[in-house]
Amino acid sequence: MSFESLGLAPALLRALADQGYTKPTPVQAGAIPVVLEGHDLLAAAQTGTGKTAAFSLPLLQRMSSTAPSGTRRPRALVLTPTRELAAQIHGNIRDYGKYLKVSSATIFGGVSMGPQIQALRRGADIIIATPGRLVDHMQQRTIDLSGVEVLVLDEADRMLDMGFLPSLKRIISALPKQRQTLLFSATFAPEIKSLAMQFMHSPREVSV
Ligand code: AMP
Repeated sequence: MSFESLGLAPALLRALADQGYTKPTPVQAGAIPVVLEGHDLLAAAQTGTGKTAAFSLPLLQRMSSTAPSGTRRPRALVLTPTRELAAQIHGNIRDYGKYLKVSSATIFGGVSMGPQIQALRRGADIIIATPGRLVDHMQQRTIDLSGVEVLVLDEADRMLDMGFLPSLKRIISALPKQRQTLLFSATFAPEIKSLAMQFMHSPREVSV
């Protein structure tokens, strides 16, 4: 199994070679083709399995290969439980997307809103956010989620453990109904299944 055979664009393959990645991890091999085909995805994967690239690579490919909406609205939203994870995902997305013209920004708590508001005004295709601070931006109307085509729920079980369910529901209800949703979780507890039933359309399942 190679990254080439998964259907990734040359600009992404070059960036992966720069990273020193030689072959996809199991979650990447399972998830990338499914996501590129546009399906919703329910993936059981822990940290360390390469799950960040499993969603970031097809996300970047979609952002670069379809026509931009012509507005500054974000087209993809990645929700993750902590600011450390948000920063890490942002770093990975920048590394993988270095040969593409796709912009990204982070939104997380514990820092002032000002620079985040400025970044949103400048426009970013991909937003990586923690749920609490994203809801703050929604309340202040400093973010417009009406152009989101892809939603990623990263470490969904941890987000629920941290009490983010009400925030998640509020965020998801502000997104277009017609979108692709990818959910990554270490476990498929009943609450995760219920979230998937409520907010996803016939998801394909991948577990490693
Ligand atoms: P993650 O599970 O997304 O936190 O990734 C764990 C680590 O594996 C990160 O340091 C990645 O840079 C690295 N990684 C992800 N995919 C690959 C791959 N296909 N080959 C080598 N390293 C990888």
